[in-house]
Amino acid sequence: MKPFQYLRPKTIAEAISMAADDPEARYIAGGTNLVDLMKRGIASPTKLIDINHLPLKKIEHRYDRLRIGALALNSEVAKHKAVVTRQPLLAQALLAGASGQLRNMATVGGNLLQRTRCSYFYDLALPCNKRKPGSGCGAEGGINRTHAIFFAGNGFGGIEKSSCLAVHPSDMCVALTAVDTVVVVNGPDGERRIQMKDFLRLSTQQPELDTNLGPGELVTAIEVLDNAFAKHSHYLKVRDRASYAFALVSVAVALQMDGGRIWDARLALGGVAHKPWRYWAIDLMLRGKAPSEQLFREVAEHEMESAKALEGNAYKIKLTSNAMVAALKTAAGIS
Ligand SMILES: Cc1cc2nc3c(=O)[nH]c(=O)nc-3n(C[C@H](O)[C@H](O)[C@H](O)COP(=O)(O)OP(=O)(O)OC[C@H]3O[C@@H](n4cnc5c(N)ncnc54)[C@H](O)[C@@H]3O)c2cc1C
Repeated sequence: MKPFQYLRPKTIAEAISMAADDPEARYIAGGTNLVDLMKRGIASPTKLIDINHLPLKKIEHRYDRLRIGALALNSEVAKHKAVVTRQPLLAQALLAGASGQLRNMATVGGNLLQRTRCSYFYDLALPCNKRKPGSGCGAEGGINRTHAIFFAGNGFGGIEKSSCLAVHPSDMCVALTAVDTVVVVNGPDGERRIQMKDFLRLSTQQPELDTNLGPGELVTAIEVLDNAFAKHSHYLKVRDRASYAFALVSVAVALQMDGGRIWDARLALGGVAHKPWRYWAIDLMLRGKAPSEQLFREVAEHEMESAKALEGNAYKIKLTSNAMVAALKTAAGIS
């Protein structure tokens, strides 16, 4: 392991100034991802800026939104009363991730910024455009059972244009993509608020960049705007093992229902793209309609028309479609 400086800032401003002049500096929160990457030689920061003493742990509901500090633990968020009652989709997604022990260490900021679990990214002997830009993508023509089926340029055969076939690993981010979420960041130029849909990136260019965070920027909080989805939301995760495994496919569904009809609908998919994949047209397709398996099958198949399987993951097309139908039925309360 390369030697690095370990720093412990007392304020947010101090943390940002420590990172500002050094592109190789990294913030460390729970360390459950970053330390693994350092041990394997995938990340070699020159400075490790330990942010655990910063006042970023608060979870509170204010005005029209739930504000969750970047250092709030995944386990604390999942059981917080305001989260469970107002945003149960987020609580469900968090509880579907990792294990109890990991959730007790992992933070919201770290979860947002965790890196892909693609095995080519983790193997220093193999090519990976994300780890080493320009070296190629081992998953292209390699083992790609767990890789993406949706790409930038959805519907235009975007695989050719994509330089990274890896998928985003977070469960939490799938739920946050389905509902309206703002990521609050602080950096050398002050505070910025980034919509969740613009925070994580697709992989057309610069797959080494997972997010649109600027140099030295620190995530300070996420804000989930109030919505009317609490009674009809569901997170469904399909994986190889019942626990302690990343999603092959996951679905976050949020419906607003009244009088037996759907009045607003949101859906995001995990395990299928370089970032959680939002199904933008679903609201138009479901609004004003009574829920039924046939309707849900139609909307799922509509979205899957723009999916494109690689050599090893054709199974994901049917799996994703079926998972969408199952999650929509559960959220709508029909059998
Ligand atoms: C065995 C195992 C199984 C797992 N299974 C799942 C799973 O099923 N689903 C799932 O979603 N996740 C899973 N995870 C991933 C886990 O959720 C992440 O490792 C965790 O959320 C990262 O949080 P952390 O606080 O430990 O981040 P760290 O490891 O401390 O940091 C991760 C990255 O975020 C950056 N960072 C951290 N905080 C900030 C901040 N506030 N501002 C800017 N940058 C920041 C760091 O610089 C680093 O690049 C698993 C992990 C392991 C080890």
